[in-house]
Amino acid sequence: MNKIAQLIDGQFVQSTSTDFIEVTNPANNQVIAHAPCATDAEIEQAISAATSAFKTWKKVSVPERARLMMRYQHLLKEHHDEIATILSEETGKTFADAKGDVWRGIEVVEQAANISSMMMGETVENVATNIDTYSMIQPLGVCLGITPFNFPAMIPLWMFPLAIASGNTFILKPSEQDPKTPMKLAELFLEAGAPKGVLNVIHGGKDQVNYLLNHDAIKAVSFVGSVPVGQHIYKTATDNLKRAQCFAGAKNHSVIMPDANKEFVLNNLVGASVGAAGQRCMAISVAVFVGESAEWIPELAKRIGEVKPGLWDDKDAGFGPLISPQAKAKVLSLIEEGKKQGATCLVDGSDFTLEGYESGNWVGPTVFTDVTTEMSIYQQEIFGPVLCCMVVNTLEEAIELVNSNPFGNGTSIFTASGAAARKYQSDIEVGQVGINVPIPVPLPFFSFTGWKNSFYGDLHAYGKQGVRFYTETKTITSRWLDDDIPSGPNMTIELK
Ligand code: NAD
Repeated sequence: MNKIAQLIDGQFVQSTSTDFIEVTNPANNQVIAHAPCATDAEIEQAISAATSAFKTWKKVSVPERARLMMRYQHLLKEHHDEIATILSEETGKTFADAKGDVWRGIEVVEQAANISSMMMGETVENVATNIDTYSMIQPLGVCLGITPFNFPAMIPLWMFPLAIASGNTFILKPSEQDPKTPMKLAELFLEAGAPKGVLNVIHGGKDQVNYLLNHDAIKAVSFVGSVPVGQHIYKTATDNLKRAQCFAGAKNHSVIMPDANKEFVLNNLVGASVGAAGQRCMAISVAVFVGESAEWIPELAKRIGEVKPGLWDDKDAGFGPLISPQAKAKVLSLIEEGKKQGATCLVDGSDFTLEGYESGNWVGPTVFTDVTTEMSIYQQEIFGPVLCCMVVNTLEEAIELVNSNPFGNGTSIFTASGAAARKYQSDIEVGQVGINVPIPVPLPFFSFTGWKNSFYGDLHAYGKQGVRFYTETKTITSRWLDDDIPSGPNMTIELK
């Protein structure tokens, strides 16, 4: 049995647990590894290692912490293909997608290498006579990260590099569905020179997360995953008086104005909707056609229908299988409900299977039109290769539709009109807006700013907000009197 190790106090150790979770290849559901459910004693060891490492790590100079990130960035780039291969094998993502997953994480590490400028406080001289006030940014202590299956490289890298560069120590609990990728990230982090205990990785599911959430030593919790789990984690963490940032589910709309460039729109919507089998929190799952642009729906459906799912190393594959049989069953049942509730299924991927891999979690590209807001396919996050098309008459109607949706992760508008784009960016109640950009994920010098049910918390991931999340501000007011300056040629202060 290929058992996945945990990282505790600088050592990769095998768990003594008797409880293991199978990690499978989503293309055929064959078991490729077993992830342990960490025992309470192992979690305690990880917490104790992180607590003790914090005492020395917080004193390491900021430029030295930045240098660790520079070495790490270099190693991640050197091992980019290797990490992407591991990632593809356990998620089924195409190799190109897997490389993108790793790359978006590398970009956050680059931002973490810039930590010195983000740790600057503020100063006002002479707030009163001889008194200056200045602030400094200090780390919190042991931080916890809980990550989802769909970006096993990028999302752990949203968290621990910035937390650690800010002077914290970290415990990562990656998704039990694809834990091999985060273990490779951890291995390279040690190789880059991370001192023992600064990063610890333990495995498991609900029980392990709940144990950590109820532990006094954990000061801050970063979570990315589904809505019900995000709500549970936010409530439990804050109930235990911890800082929390929880990124949750989504339903992202793209609004297509009739003046948009048709070819550009159709090309972009194909990848944005069914790319990565729709298992992206920023995937476009609803296309809202305004007025005459509705005439493009059949052409869009045709092009989406031509996308071929396939194995990760098949260069012609548009996307891979879903992560698990449960994920497939959920997507198929929503497709079925969509049909029953009266939506028109222009392309139906329910019966798709890949020859020779019939036991895998395959769903083909699927397109619905005549979708209404009452239907389950509109109300629920499908997280599969399914696009819902809707038609409205005006931009105002489109804005009202999007704003009535409880999610607020991402949205985009395609238009040739600056005025329409400006109205959209201003009036839309969604945290990340693309203008002629289908999936507007901000680069890490900004922050990942989902709204509404897509995010519970105050400070978002990465960028300046990420550093604020992982730090505390200390404000110092100091008085020094001119009369106290030692006089005479000898400036040495005698110690008594
Ligand atoms: P998930 O919520 O099932 O799992 C996420 C993490 O929570 C995993 O580590 C899992 O072990 C843990 N977990 C699961 N159930 C738990 C419980 N009851 N108590 C405590 N911990 C528990 O999510 P997933 O299926 O891995 O990921 C897909 C979801 O993540 C989608 O909803 C997607 O939209 C969302 N997501 C959101 C963003 C974002 O930035 N908003 C980014 C990526 C993914």
